[in-house]
Amino acid sequence: MSRRSIVAANWKMHKVRAEASSFCQTMRTDLGAPAAEVLLFPSFPLLDTVVATLGDAAVAVGGQDVHGEAAGAHTGDVSVAQLLDAGCRWVVCGHSERRANHDETSAQVGAKAKIAAAHGLLPLVCVGETGDQRSAGETEKVLAEQLAGLLDAGPERFELAYEPVWAIGTGLTATPEMAQATQAWLRAELGRQLAARGHAQTAEATRILYGGSVKPHNAGELIAASDIDGFLVGGASLDVASFLAIIAACES
Ligand code: PEP
Repeated sequence: MSRRSIVAANWKMHKVRAEASSFCQTMRTDLGAPAAEVLLFPSFPLLDTVVATLGDAAVAVGGQDVHGEAAGAHTGDVSVAQLLDAGCRWVVCGHSERRANHDETSAQVGAKAKIAAAHGLLPLVCVGETGDQRSAGETEKVLAEQLAGLLDAGPERFELAYEPVWAIGTGLTATPEMAQATQAWLRAELGRQLAARGHAQTAEATRILYGGSVKPHNAGELIAASDIDGFLVGGASLDVASFLAIIAACES
């Protein structure tokens, strides 16, 4: 099945408005009509600037997180309605830095994806094992548990990013063979779990991005793998030329 690739920039806690604006102006002039869907996830205070500066560029904007409830006494959190109001169409749920730094459980990640999808915000849900878990042969167990937490919540729609934690920000990219093998297994497991729950979405139609030290020099060989449907890019997305080069690698 042919799935349109997604190339997503995760800026994490980087950039101030002038830097974001300069990046987005270049995207607007240089991006053109990419084959891939291009997404940009800035931190919350940058959303207005990013949305306004991108204008009609072929880039959709998303939040890096969302709360699992619609509104309430949740200091420091952001709601689905606030993200939609700021011009977001996507949201990252369950990035490993949120799972690790904020003790987010798979059930909480599922609740976030559920409320986002119910309100028309597309969740990009991250899953991935740590280096210790891979060494202990627990990769499949970890991924299955993260998928179960997501699917138990029953989000209407979602896309996935497989991000081995040991490859994020470390320069240690999974080889195309390793990423392909894990993502093919993940797609099969997704199919099993979707079928068991009678979910309308199919595993074949679900985009599974790869994330973990993707750079312009390795994007081409990774995107050639049949179960890699694009990238979630951290460090290399901070430089506009490097991000554009990764988008270009997904052109064919
Ligand atoms: C990420 O933060 O999702 C990520 C993949 O980061 P990096 O590309 O820097 O490894």
